[in-house]
Amino acid sequence: MGNEIILVVDNDRQVADYVTGTLIPSLGYKSLVAYDAKSALAYIRQYEKQISLILLELQLPDMQDLDFLKKLSELGVSTPFIVITGSKKEEIIDKTFLLGAADFIQKPIDMEVLKHAIWKTLETEQLREERERHVRELEEQINWLTSISDVGRSVTSTLDLDEVLTRIVDASVELTGADQGFIALLDKTSQELYLRVVKNIDDDRVSTLRLPVSDPLVSQALNFGKPIRISRKGNENPLKVCTGLLVTSLLHVPLSYKGTSFGVLSVNNHATMRKFTAQDEAVLVSLAGYASIAIENANLYHQIQQELSERVKAEEALRVSEERYALAVSGANDGIWDWDLKTNFVYFSDRWKSLLGLESDEIENTIDAWFDRIHPEDLEQVKLNLFAHMKRRTPHFISEYRMLHKNGEYRWMLTRGLAVWDDEGNAVRVAGSQSDITDRKCAEQKLLHDALHDALTGLPNRNLLISHLEHAIEQSKRRKDYKFAVLLLDLDHFKNVNDSFGHIMGDKLLTSVGYLLKDGLRSTDTLARFGGDEYVILLEDVKSVENVKKITDWIHKKFQDPITINHHQVYITTSIGVVFGGGEEMTAEETLRDADIAMYVAKANGRARTEIFEPSMRENVLLRLTLEADLRNALDNKELEPYYQPIVSLETGTLIGFEALARWNHPRRGVLNPAVFIPLAEDTGMIIDVDRWILRKACFQMHEWQKKYEVCRDLTISVNISGKQIRHYDFVSFLKGVLNDSGLQPQSLKLEITERTVVDMNEMTMSVFEELRELGVQLQIDDFGIGYSSLGYLSRFPIDGLKIDSSFVNRMLENGGQEDIVQAIVMLTNRLNIRVIAEGVETSDQMEKLRVLGCEYGQGFLVATPLKRQDVEALLEDLSDGREPRAFWNLLTD
Ligand code: C2E
Ligand code: CA
Ligand code: CA
Repeated sequence: MGNEIILVVDNDRQVADYVTGTLIPSLGYKSLVAYDAKSALAYIRQYEKQISLILLELQLPDMQDLDFLKKLSELGVSTPFIVITGSKKEEIIDKTFLLGAADFIQKPIDMEVLKHAIWKTLETEQLREERERHVRELEEQINWLTSISDVGRSVTSTLDLDEVLTRIVDASVELTGADQGFIALLDKTSQELYLRVVKNIDDDRVSTLRLPVSDPLVSQALNFGKPIRISRKGNENPLKVCTGLLVTSLLHVPLSYKGTSFGVLSVNNHATMRKFTAQDEAVLVSLAGYASIAIENANLYHQIQQELSERVKAEEALRVSEERYALAVSGANDGIWDWDLKTNFVYFSDRWKSLLGLESDEIENTIDAWFDRIHPEDLEQVKLNLFAHMKRRTPHFISEYRMLHKNGEYRWMLTRGLAVWDDEGNAVRVAGSQSDITDRKCAEQKLLHDALHDALTGLPNRNLLISHLEHAIEQSKRRKDYKFAVLLLDLDHFKNVNDSFGHIMGDKLLTSVGYLLKDGLRSTDTLARFGGDEYVILLEDVKSVENVKKITDWIHKKFQDPITINHHQVYITTSIGVVFGGGEEMTAEETLRDADIAMYVAKANGRARTEIFEPSMRENVLLRLTLEADLRNALDNKELEPYYQPIVSLETGTLIGFEALARWNHPRRGVLNPAVFIPLAEDTGMIIDVDRWILRKACFQMHEWQKKYEVCRDLTISVNISGKQIRHYDFVSFLKGVLNDSGLQPQSLKLEITERTVVDMNEMTMSVFEELRELGVQLQIDDFGIGYSSLGYLSRFPIDGLKIDSSFVNRMLENGGQEDIVQAIVMLTNRLNIRVIAEGVETSDQMEKLRVLGCEYGQGFLVATPLKRQDVEALLEDLSDGREPRAFWNLLTD
């Protein structure tokens, strides 16, 4: 206060002069005085906005009785007025009230009564304005909810809490791929949670369900204010959720505001075994933040409405009590400010100051004192917004910006205001409200950050990379010399790290790789993580392919050093696919797809290398992808089948067993050899199922033959087992199951493991070997000689046999020393007391030579090719009948 003007209209100069000269200044107001209606109206026209009260004598020299009042209402003047008159006519008194008089004072004036009437009228007016402002703000509050942010928009486009929560639950279920979801809120009196909003849960259940807060999972989320993410393990019973639903995995995230939890946002799976990931958790936490704010806003909304209606009551009370009014104002949620441009005085309410932690006298009443606390990055925008409104270019002033709090932190503020203009259109006053929106801003920023960054490494995610890539593509269209490159990196055999060291180490490795790559890039390049072990680098403005190659060389070189994690040294390599782009009509998605194809080719070409995309790659990859899909079907449709290659004693020609070799009866491409699909199966992990299928088939078959044919009694079956299979956690128990189901004795089974697998072995696989040994199953090393291990090294492993790789047998008769190698192998195996089998014996010369060198056993086309089951049976029939087998048996015995 202090700058309001009171206009006194009275032709009784004595009274007028006393009121304006003594009474009004003593109340702290300025005054104007008019002795007749004409000059009063002139003042009103000129100063309407500043005049806060009119004291009016009805009997004026140039206007009588109620005419002046009628004139005011014709002019639309809304300034409150108190009528002072000597007239005692009841009729006039009634009419003045009808025409809007705030009070009526009889002459002779009792100055105390007049003083009180002035106070009361001014405060009532102020209260009315305040209330109007609150209603306006409330309406605006609804508006800002509708436009929170891009992500937020879909969830907060309405103040209807039901709708907001429904959208949040829908989004939760959709974004986490869950089967069901719900928001449950705490009923404080009953201490039970009730389902507020659900997705994919029966309506019937919803209305009746009450969840006890004592449910261990829910209470954990509520009490500790932390998310809970669990899943059913293996064959355990399904988890029971507080809703009474049986689920396989669930994720509860607490809803809380200012540290107090009041409900949970939850998703679960019941139809699938899918587990929730850390990323799902992050998404849900963000959405829960949103839900909390929405609920809090709704509460606030109700609170304000309640406050408003209380305010109306308070207004009545205020007519009696001044103190009450002061209380109501200090309770208002928003700070209020009011800038008088004429005096340059800015009024800040106590609430406005306390939002910044300031005491009443800790800020000057100037606009600069305000601006000085605004964050330098935001100041310009605030000024622009404010001045635009003052110049009448915008309907109101609104701005969100950071302000310095007394504690040294910046808080986010939302300010709204309206200006008042004079006749020339110059703003003379701007006033408005200010509220603290830091919580909402933080939630928004986190949401935005989460939407664009990878939770584990904090690197940009796919979305952000795509937006940078789109930008680079646009650039390249505009500038002929502008080129960019996309590098898609995929770590090689990353799964092994996870399998052998655990996920925590795996995560650490992924983070370390992020640091390592980031280290060598320019600040203009983007390094993103695409999830899993995939990273993408966007190199902007690169001159040539050679420059890109320098970078990929640098990366491969970096990866040659071990990465140290928790005192372990981990060696890892990466395959890189590169698209060197610019100028073509390509979308970001297409570019990434091509990089992916090139990466795929790098993997197929032996990993730890870079391939630069060429259009021809697309077709090849497509073929491989088709084959991959076919192979998945092959397993379901039982298109895989073992063939059996006889293994014989080179000395006597006696059959000692068979090796089972996988064949694929492809519906369109005929019988396919392992070379076509085993590497693919290895890469995709399908090898586990392929091996198991062949193993099972072969064991059942061998046992059947052993029962049926006397000659088969002591024969063995050799089965190829991939390194992945050996490392698979339940391989041994699977094998036991197969032996048990088929009835085959463990002694009749030989597992063939390549030398490479053995070389790559660690302690864990070593213990698998021991277990297999104990079981009585025999172990043979396959493809021996090409894995660069020494026999001395091999003697550490519990092995029964060794197969000399066919490449040695092949070149044994050429000049060049292969014969010596074969001889050395044979001699050493004899000393270690393990069996030796030559592979790929094709000619009788080779066989003769092997015999001379002392190699005991062999297999190869010379004896027989891998045979179908029926052919093996024909062979066994011949042998059983004591006949020399003719068909499929190439061995020339003497
Ligand atoms: P391998 O274990 O070294 O099997 C021997 C390969 O040599 C077989 O090829 C066989 O058909 C071929 N072979 C036999 N005698 C001769 C010969 O005199 N001359 C020549 N040039 N080749 C001969 P195949 O059946 O194409 O299998 C290739 C490889 O695929 C196998 O090599 C084995 O490593 C893998 N494989 C086959 N079946 C399976 C399986 O069920 N699981 C796994 N993990 N790998 C398998
Ligand atoms: Ca083999
Ligand atoms: Ca082999």
